[in-house]
Amino acid sequence: MPDVPRFLEPLAGFGVTFGTMFKPAHTEQYPEEKVPVAPRYHGRHQLNRYADGLEKCIGCELCAWACPADAIFVEGADNTDVERFSPGERYGRNYQINYLRCIGCGMCVEACPTRALTMTNEYEIADDNRTDLIFTKEDLLAPLLEGMVPAPHDMYPGADHGTYYRGEITGAAPEQGEPYTPGEPGGQGGQGEHAEPGEQGPQRNPRRAADGKAS
Ligand code: SF4
Ligand code: SF4
Repeated sequence: MPDVPRFLEPLAGFGVTFGTMFKPAHTEQYPEEKVPVAPRYHGRHQLNRYADGLEKCIGCELCAWACPADAIFVEGADNTDVERFSPGERYGRNYQINYLRCIGCGMCVEACPTRALTMTNEYEIADDNRTDLIFTKEDLLAPLLEGMVPAPHDMYPGADHGTYYRGEITGAAPEQGEPYTPGEPGGQGGQGEHAEPGEQGPQRNPRRAADGKAS
């Protein structure tokens, strides 16, 4: 800034004010008008599914160990021949993220070995009580897309967990069960399976929507 005589310094300060008055305003009219966030914005998490509907989470707890805010709780359980939720030996039976603690750093996503956990662009997760800010597996699980079969069910015929991890499963087989059709209970709309960074996940959780709460 050029040298200004001391007695003119207050006027120089007002110069900034006057200069700003004639610039266009950049006020965002939120929430009436929502401006898209950056593609890699760290919003609400999502637990993804494979294309046949099985869950990607294997209950390994690596995300919970990586979290610097101790915001994640995972309880794994064994898949069985009669009740299989994921392709591997284990699945995440209980999964919670405490959004009172989460700082949106994304370390949990980096730690996840199966890309089960990603972050959506959804940022409207404020609430008026603490309980509803602890999101459960039900809140975080990706919605069923058309053609997926709701877990639990068998793996794709002839496939093993490696087949899934290599991304070779592109849909459900008839032997795996009745595929989901949009409009039936169980699906929630949204883009579902792969909420990679920059994608939008399910828009509203039915329980929270019924409560009139943001999801
Ligand atoms: S984004 Fe960061 S703070 Fe939030 S749950 Fe993941 S690791 Fe923890
Ligand atoms: S989300 Fe990923 S890291 Fe966390 S328990 Fe599931 S598979 Fe493991």
